[in-house]
Amino acid sequence: MNNSCTLNGTQNGTKSAYLNEIINLAASKNPNEPEFLQAVKEVLGTLEPVILKHEEEYKPIALLERIIEPERIISFRVPWIDDKGQAQVNRGFRVQFNGTLGPYKGGLRFHPTVNQSIMKFLAFEQIFKNALTGLPIGGGKGGSDFDPKGKSDNEIMRFCQSFMTELQKHIGQDVDVPAGDIGVGGREIGYLFGQYRRIKNNYEAGVLTGKGLDYGGSLARKEATGYGLIYFMREMLKANSMELKGKTVIISGSGNVAIYACEKAQEYGANVVAMSDSNGCIYDKDGIKLDIVKEIKEVKRGRIKEYKDSVPSAQYMENNGEIPAVYTIKADIVLPCATQNDININAAKVLTENGAKAVGEGANMPCTNEAVEYFLSNGVLVAPGKAANAGGVATSALEMCQNSMRYFWSFDEVDKKLDGIMTNIFAQTKKAAEEYGYGNNYVAGANIAAFRKIAKGMKSQGLI
Ligand code: NDP
Repeated sequence: MNNSCTLNGTQNGTKSAYLNEIINLAASKNPNEPEFLQAVKEVLGTLEPVILKHEEEYKPIALLERIIEPERIISFRVPWIDDKGQAQVNRGFRVQFNGTLGPYKGGLRFHPTVNQSIMKFLAFEQIFKNALTGLPIGGGKGGSDFDPKGKSDNEIMRFCQSFMTELQKHIGQDVDVPAGDIGVGGREIGYLFGQYRRIKNNYEAGVLTGKGLDYGGSLARKEATGYGLIYFMREMLKANSMELKGKTVIISGSGNVAIYACEKAQEYGANVVAMSDSNGCIYDKDGIKLDIVKEIKEVKRGRIKEYKDSVPSAQYMENNGEIPAVYTIKADIVLPCATQNDININAAKVLTENGAKAVGEGANMPCTNEAVEYFLSNGVLVAPGKAANAGGVATSALEMCQNSMRYFWSFDEVDKKLDGIMTNIFAQTKKAAEEYGYGNNYVAGANIAAFRKIAKGMKSQGLI
């Protein structure tokens, strides 16, 4: 059984000359894109057995060269006026990475850290994630370095309108369908959709997902990523003779994914004791009172430390070291649901020493490659983000489906479909891992299962 990601093996000489060549090519062509290179190495590092078996089929059609090169990157200026009447300029992006399986699909992130490397890593991950859902969607991602924190509603609206004035030239329900991500929730999607409709003079409901329920949104979309993460975790634990009931859980983040992961984990009888934001975390050993977190984050758009105002017995721990405070808390199950590279090797060591049994990536690439390696080689199960957080995009595809039918499914109908999709994603992941000798290394399993689908489609569609 090969329980490691073979990442280092790949960098230092895999048995596949073709893979080595592609990893070097990616590094030389994208020298200033560390997050993108990290994502490429993470995926390619696990594909060795597949590439060795199919090298003669893939190499002549430049399959790997094409899979690491976006079909298109759009970068644009976003000018807007703030509340003081001052002109501001941000940078907008849309990366249409791979449309083999369907219209490009992936969220929009508004965060000051957004740059081309982060957009490309997210879009690259999205190709594989979308393939795992089994739904007809290609991979894309977009966003802006705009910081929504502290902005008024009017500023958010003006920014969204300006952003969409350019983006609308490049999207459409059969072309590219954006959704939310960090900093983009229901409010932003509403403003973006309004501007799209105004410019196009056309009610194209399927052009964006994550819409409000009153204008084409799907029930259970808001909950989908977090719930889906827990459905995947349930299956992964079951396959390894464990269950969520009675387990202590810590969650990083307190945004959309974190909140609904907490809700579903609690429903399954887990004790969620911590949640965080970028400043610090709250520790409530008696179990997080989620209605209080929802009020702080979804209604007041406040900080997680305000939880203590309502629950004085809880502890607030400010981030002040290299490891975010939330990861110093002892737990059986760790759910990183904030941002990329949140868990580095040192955090992985602390979590493992503290008895972690499983990590479920609600965020995209929240663990560094070294952290994943460490977990896997120390017997900690890892549910990789591209499989475990695919419930959001899967439900977005269900939203597109309802928009096409001009029909709505009930919450339970959507939730049941979501559960079925996540159960199936885990089954495919497990099967691929076992078939290629990776045992319960689901990181490798997810990459292989997704890659095989995309490779097949790319081969059928010719050299494009
Ligand atoms: P939200 O904006 O709703 O919440 C983000 C949370 O993460 C906040 O608590 C935020 O804290 C925290 N956070 C963001 N950036 C940082 C940072 N640099 N350091 C520490 N904490 C940070 O986003 P989502 O919940 O939608 O997304 C969370 C993750 O899940 C992202 O990786 C996203 O790509 C991924 N994801 C989201 C999906 C979705 O459907 N929404 C689907 C699949 C994946 P603060 O308020 O302090 O910034």
